[in-house]
Amino acid sequence: MQDPSLPQMALTVLVTDFLRYALAAGAVWLVVNVLLRRRLAGRRILDAVPAPGQLRREIAYSLSTVFVFAANGLLLWLLIANGTVEVYPDVDRRGWAWWWASLVLIIVAHDAWFYWTHRALHHRRWFRAVHGRHHASLHPTPWAAYAFHPVEALVQAVFLPLFLLAVPVHAGVLGIFLLHMILRNAIGHCAHELFPWRWTPRGWLGWITPVSHHHFHHARNRGNYGLYFTWWDRLCGTEDPEYLRYGDERFAAAVRQEATA
Ligand SMILES: [Zn+2]
Ligand SMILES: [Zn+2]
Repeated sequence: MQDPSLPQMALTVLVTDFLRYALAAGAVWLVVNVLLRRRLAGRRILDAVPAPGQLRREIAYSLSTVFVFAANGLLLWLLIANGTVEVYPDVDRRGWAWWWASLVLIIVAHDAWFYWTHRALHHRRWFRAVHGRHHASLHPTPWAAYAFHPVEALVQAVFLPLFLLAVPVHAGVLGIFLLHMILRNAIGHCAHELFPWRWTPRGWLGWITPVSHHHFHHARNRGNYGLYFTWWDRLCGTEDPEYLRYGDERFAAAVRQEATA
């Protein structure tokens, strides 16, 4: 089979990035706001209601991010094609131990990248010019998953080529990383606490960020800069204790109701 041409590859990457966003955000929105709407009523965070015109703005910014991510994806494809970065197709090349280690590594590294770039974007000047676009949603919806100013989209996009320049990964690891990223992102903006409050953020899964973690970041803008994990916020003292207090009060009761229903 002939290698795809540059325009063919550009179109493939663009369609893939678009579908990844539209299907993930759409699926989370459908489940939370339509299919399980009544069941999840007690898990709505801060009685969130999107502001008028919010969805349109979230989708418009997210679509501009799809273009930035697609350009980055095309760059990555070129780097793979000329051998600068290694995304290999056969697991045997480096074995299963490396397969799992590289999966953990890429997720942990991305969380660190997100925490520190996100914190920097909260500097007054960057917030006003760039990151404030994302915070225009006080109570976000899953459609806000990619709602970034193009500069912020670029900051988030360059993680992947930078990481892959240093670390070879199997194609499957890359696929799982991309799927996990968009799903956690869409869920993190769904305004309903989907995680079991008994286990996170304080139980044996206390290192995983529940939905309230990022929702309070939007609603109050006082800390909670992490993406997947709570450890950077706890280590650096940037965790907003208010989301813990609120969750204990509200979702501990929801857990009891669900147990007796
Ligand atoms: Zn922020
Ligand atoms: Zn957000």
